[in-house]
Amino acid sequence: MSQPVTLVWLRRDLRVFDNTALQTAIRRGLPVAAVFVFDTGILDHLSRDDRRIGFIRDSVAELQAALTEKGIPLLVLHGRAEKEIPALAGRLNAAAVVCAEDYEPAAIERDNRIWRVLDADGREFVRVTDQAVFAKADVMSSQGRPYTVFTPYKNAWLQTYAQRYAAWQPADDWAAAARLQTALPDAARNPPPVPACADLGFQPQPSPFAAGETAAQAQLGRFLSHIADYGLTRDFPSKQGGSNLSPYLRFGLLSPRHLAFLAKQADCEGASVWLSELVWREFFMQILFHFPHAATENFRTEYRDLTWENNPLWLERWQRGQTGYPLVDAAMRCLIKTGTLHNRLRMVAACFLTKDLLTDWRHGERWFAEHLMDYDLAANSGNWQWAAGTGCDAQPYFRVFNPVLQSQKYDPDGHFIRRYVPELAHLGKDTIHAPWLAKNSIDTHDYPAPVVSHAEQREKAIAMFKAVKDKAAAGH
Ligand code: FAD
Repeated sequence: MSQPVTLVWLRRDLRVFDNTALQTAIRRGLPVAAVFVFDTGILDHLSRDDRRIGFIRDSVAELQAALTEKGIPLLVLHGRAEKEIPALAGRLNAAAVVCAEDYEPAAIERDNRIWRVLDADGREFVRVTDQAVFAKADVMSSQGRPYTVFTPYKNAWLQTYAQRYAAWQPADDWAAAARLQTALPDAARNPPPVPACADLGFQPQPSPFAAGETAAQAQLGRFLSHIADYGLTRDFPSKQGGSNLSPYLRFGLLSPRHLAFLAKQADCEGASVWLSELVWREFFMQILFHFPHAATENFRTEYRDLTWENNPLWLERWQRGQTGYPLVDAAMRCLIKTGTLHNRLRMVAACFLTKDLLTDWRHGERWFAEHLMDYDLAANSGNWQWAAGTGCDAQPYFRVFNPVLQSQKYDPDGHFIRRYVPELAHLGKDTIHAPWLAKNSIDTHDYPAPVVSHAEQREKAIAMFKAVKDKAAAGH
């Protein structure tokens, strides 16, 4: 039997800096080997041109090189994680497998199954907090219950942060790692390079986000130079006021602790608005952990009897950016073309699908899941339910975004629309938001007329929600 090791299973923490699983493993005092699995249990359900695979693949390749410099081998496997992890732990004689814990229901079940196998083999399975600053029951109400409304959660989050993170520093100890690695068994040395996309069965795609921790840090640096303006610019798709860090956070190329620390350090209005967004991320993570049904069921039980119209032709027009509402269509075409979408446009598109097209939020949630580079179950389902009015902390059902007013307010000159709806690129800012209202006839190059009347659908949506709410209140 070779010298025992600690095996770090990297998943959504594809970075060297402030990586809790790696540092926990180093502190255990045995040589450390790392593994990443391209899990066919996940990959088999993805389209062959999914953009995320190339991004993950290139990020893992950079990580492998960075860890090699620190003496830590990163083995990259392609198969079912449930089989590969216990088998590798056996081959390397791992005393323990360490990973960052996940909060999605399917991932928790998978990890529990792996834990049972490792346990039967006499190996420890250690799960640490890394995806969020605070997870699970770290921030609870005074009655010991999870928060379901954002503002009190945020206040408690900030209070807990002040208590526990006032003097935060990354605990990276690479000198200790170097000492341990001299005893690394041969079986863990010189791992083969990361397979190409094609070897994984995927076609490489262009990505709007450069892969890897270095690119993530570079984007973070760019954002920090204008973080003070965040509160003023973040709502305008053409101004690029947001950080554009969501895919990096999604795959753990950045540390959430580091981002919270930087936001606190920046100490300005823009940074505190931005910190709230990071807290929203953790709010939805803890909602999903405590209420796993929120991923697939209406969070608010009073809305469980909602009967959506679910017109498949309308859904298809929404998906393809052919609703006749220019801002909605620009948003949906941008999503397909780039795999990313500005937060304001996600809200507008989600509200339009649910309130104007009276389509179940789950259809939109699935579409976003297939296309977003930053897709995250907790954030996506949480925000979709928020927009639909069925979620925790929902907007009142009678508040329905007007897609034309949103367009005039957040894309006033029509720059964003022109970029993604070329049929309308020749229109001025007075007509581009609602070409069908133009006084003089204008050529819109086959751009469709509005699929529905917003005014009529708004009334229908409000009536639909009110009827179900009243019925629930009457105890039916
Ligand atoms: P910034 O504005 O710079 O915010 C910083 C970070 O905070 C983001 O990178 C993200 O990690 C987090 N964040 C910001 N807003 C939210 C929010 N409302 N909820 C949760 N986290 C937030 N975000 C995802 O990461 N994955 C998703 O699948 C996702 N789906 C969404 C679906 C809908 C219908 C809506 C309305 C929003 C969704 N969001 C999702 C939230 C938000 O739109 C994106 O996080 C944001 O657009 C990313 O851009 P940014 O990095 O510039 O964010």
